[in-house]
Amino acid sequence: MKVSYYCDNCRSFINQTEIEEVNLHSFMNGSLTQEKWKDIINYNDQDGLLLYSLCVSCVNKIGAPPEE
Ligand SMILES: [Zn+2]
Repeated sequence: MKVSYYCDNCRSFINQTEIEEVNLHSFMNGSLTQEKWKDIINYNDQDGLLLYSLCVSCVNKIGAPPEE
C-alpha cells in the first residue's frame, strides 16, 4: 500500500513509499504505540496512508519533534 509523508509543520510533501501490507503491522508497531498511531494516522485513496513528520528544513528550523 502507498504511504505518503507530509510535514506536520509546513504541510509540504516529504516522501512517498510503498509498503507491503504484510509488513504494515511491523512497520506500524516499530516505533510508535497503537494509541499514538491512532492519533496521527489518516488515509485517503489518492495518497494512501498519510503520515506526518517533519521535513528537513523544519527540523533544521525548529528541531526534532518533542518526545511525549
Ligand atoms: Zn516542513
